[in-house]
Amino acid sequence: MTTPDLRALLRAPEQVPSTASAPPTAATPTMPASGAPATPAMPAMPAMPASGVPAAPAEVPTTPPAEVPGLPTTAQPGVFSPESARKDVPILHRTVNGQPLVWLDNGATTQKPRQVIEAVSAYYSAANSNIHRGAHTMAREATELYEAGRTAVAQFLGAPSPDTIMFVRGTTEAVNLVAQSWGRAHLGPGDDILVPVLEHHSNIVPWQLIAEETRARVVPVPLTPDGEIDQDAYADLLSARTQMVVVSQASNVLGTVPPVREMTALAHRYGAKVLVDGAQAVAHMPVDVQALGADFYAFSGHKLFAPTGIGALYATPGAMAEMRPWQGGGNMIESVSFERTTFAAMPHMMEAGTGHISGVVGLLAAIDWLRGFDQQAVAAYEEALMSYAMQAMATVPGLEVIGSAAQRIAVMTFTLAGHDPASVADWLDKDGIAVRAGHHCAQPALAHYGLESAARASFALYNTSGEVDQLVASLRRLQQAGQGAEGA
Ligand code: PMP
Repeated sequence: MTTPDLRALLRAPEQVPSTASAPPTAATPTMPASGAPATPAMPAMPAMPASGVPAAPAEVPTTPPAEVPGLPTTAQPGVFSPESARKDVPILHRTVNGQPLVWLDNGATTQKPRQVIEAVSAYYSAANSNIHRGAHTMAREATELYEAGRTAVAQFLGAPSPDTIMFVRGTTEAVNLVAQSWGRAHLGPGDDILVPVLEHHSNIVPWQLIAEETRARVVPVPLTPDGEIDQDAYADLLSARTQMVVVSQASNVLGTVPPVREMTALAHRYGAKVLVDGAQAVAHMPVDVQALGADFYAFSGHKLFAPTGIGALYATPGAMAEMRPWQGGGNMIESVSFERTTFAAMPHMMEAGTGHISGVVGLLAAIDWLRGFDQQAVAAYEEALMSYAMQAMATVPGLEVIGSAAQRIAVMTFTLAGHDPASVADWLDKDGIAVRAGHHCAQPALAHYGLESAARASFALYNTSGEVDQLVASLRRLQQAGQGAEGA
């Protein structure tokens, strides 16, 4: 075979011209050539036994310790060390406002490991071509990479075949795709679409748009005071009218992890389809779409350490058979004439136009990177980090965490008495700590708590207990400084 092993090529980017060693420009944050952290060694998580059950944190320091022990450099069986991920992510070693960056805005987007950055760079340096339609070597190579990405996504999601995976821009586009391509053909007057109140706007508004067009109804499924989806209300709302149930596998604002599998099984008893929004789940828990039973599963690459502008939609063959083209153009057809146009087989029928090929390459590299870690150990680590953070945050006077679901991901949305969320985020930013403030594109979920806005710290596998300490210390300083110091 004359075609090079492109996946190997992308894993060994030093073989192709790289800009990685270019000197930093004025706008580039300074980073040592070795890629080693410019900041002091990160503190270790509270000791976690090999069982994965976190030891209770001793005392939560109010200021970061001046000297902290280094993290173990060699992996311990069953224990995940955040340093093993941090060392790969260059941006985590920059400074912001003169302080080491503390990136706690992972719910908005995750930072990228050099394996992803270099794969995209290697693709453009060595393999760039349009795909599918080209008759030359490089078109074939790019096609191979693109389809390798599809296979990697299928494996990552536990899907039965790459043919069940459609590439999209992200979760938002995936939901719009289903609403338009499946919804327009299947929804009509008197039909219900069940949408839990905790959903992201991107899993509400596309349904409102298609409901308006088809005269179907969007029916909100209420939440309990803890921020769980009210399962009794859900069961009551299901009926023969229900055509679609949508649900996030993890809420971006409350962190809630609903019983998606059970909800899906119940919806199927009524003949409804189920779309699962995996945007916040994919980076935090192993996903198995077949075990979930979902008809559709959507996620965004950029929340999974991959580039922006690429994501995937899984659909079962049965659901795919019920989808109509939603965008027309190149790549999605079999033949075109003014008399009769026929369409390509799925999943290509849903991928009109030139796809985000370098994005797929980056997504492939991100999946490879993430799968290099023990997924169960990562999940246990994040759980331990979250419980540490919950206890630490409870020591900040006037701080209230929104939502207390039994199962949740490492997302903490909070208010601080006497300070509006935007000024809390501003204050933290001056300490180099990035959190998000606002409505988090989940206004109904916040309204459930009588709020229009809140601050949110969202964690990923590369965050540390030392960063939690820095967050807590900064918030305590803000509280001590009082309202007069807001934004100072
Ligand atoms: N659903 C959830 C739960 C999200 O958190 C997000 C992003 N914040 C989205 C959907 C939309 O993702 P994207 O903007 O990448 O399409």
